[in-house]
Amino acid sequence: MKKFIYFLTLLLTTTVIGQNTYLHCGKLLDTKNGEVLETKTIIISGDKILSINDGYVQPTASDDMVVDLKDKTVMPGFIDMHVHLEGETNPKRYIQGFTLNDADIAYNTLDFAKRTLIAGFTTVRDLGGSGINVSLRNAIDDGKVIGPRIFTAEKALATTGGHADPTNGVKDELKGDPGPKEGVVNGVEDAKKAVRQRYKNGADLIKITATGGVLSVAKSGQNPQFTIEEIKAICETAKDYGFHVAAHAHGDEGMQRAVLGGVKTIEHGTLMSEETMALMIEHDAYLVPTITAGKSVTEKAKIPGYYPDVVVGKALDIGPKIQNTFSKAYKKGVGIAFGTDAGVFLHGENAKEFAYMVEAGMPEIKALQSATITNAKILNMEHEIGQLKAGYFADIIATNENPVENIKTTENVVFVMKSGKIYKK
Ligand SMILES: [Zn+2]
Repeated sequence: MKKFIYFLTLLLTTTVIGQNTYLHCGKLLDTKNGEVLETKTIIISGDKILSINDGYVQPTASDDMVVDLKDKTVMPGFIDMHVHLEGETNPKRYIQGFTLNDADIAYNTLDFAKRTLIAGFTTVRDLGGSGINVSLRNAIDDGKVIGPRIFTAEKALATTGGHADPTNGVKDELKGDPGPKEGVVNGVEDAKKAVRQRYKNGADLIKITATGGVLSVAKSGQNPQFTIEEIKAICETAKDYGFHVAAHAHGDEGMQRAVLGGVKTIEHGTLMSEETMALMIEHDAYLVPTITAGKSVTEKAKIPGYYPDVVVGKALDIGPKIQNTFSKAYKKGVGIAFGTDAGVFLHGENAKEFAYMVEAGMPEIKALQSATITNAKILNMEHEIGQLKAGYFADIIATNENPVENIKTTENVVFVMKSGKIYKK
């Protein structure tokens, strides 16, 4: 019956919309089986894939469209599990906290979101911004703005003085005392309220800053910043709303508390010990590497005045270690979820991460799978995105070369379709 309704829906969609799109694919990446198939036709109806066929199938209706990708490799749109669409690295970033209005930030996101999609990232998880994130997601969903499908954490949760405390480093009169409404948590009750507030504000998931961070105006980049009771309260409350929890973490102690507390992904994971790697495997938690961000902050920290003094030392200490930790964790068997921290570097350069992952010992096909099927699963979207399959969203991209043979071709995506609509050809 379910199958019948499904076909009926497809039939109706086809009949009502009329025009189908036929993609003639020279090579097609099967992310599920890790194979590159040859000479296929993807037929798209509305926002979904109708079927995948052998050979180059010619359209039946006169208004159907054919796209020739015979000399390209076609694959599902990439998913980046760690971006910040509300900002982008620049030497004025810290002062901008006092000069930009929400409307300025919102206008900036239009460019960042568009660049991300055009680079082949059809879905992203935004790990920390403000309510602008929610509005951006909705505007994109409504077709008013061009950008990727967004899963947003809205405001990241921190403790007082922690990595996402919005008033870190400012003078006393401006510090105030932000609480759970603003995403600052001290104690179990605050933790519950902060999660519920994110639900009320329209978030899709929760992000916490389990340890200090590089770019905040604070001394430590790695100390633990939540008690395990607070993390447990966050994860348990998040579950009530169908949210998973992502934890920013550089230091090992905070990371362990996060994994034991129930988070799904560890972001960065810089100083992860072997013991924590084993815990992650045991608890089915994933590492989101963000190697590109590590390399970018290391580079920028060498430019005098680019970052505040308190940030420079942390960037030079933590930035260069991220790739090596990723390498060790991958080889030990920790699940890897592709994610970059775009915003810490330029939006649209997300695909650089692939080559860094391969350089660190991950085979090309595994890196591509981490950015598609693995991430779709974490987002509970494994039946909708991450694969080219009938009934899935038509989120489809193409590169000039086969990325399994030359991973850097992912940095030059030449065709982008999201939900059946072509954005780059
Ligand atoms: Zn981040």
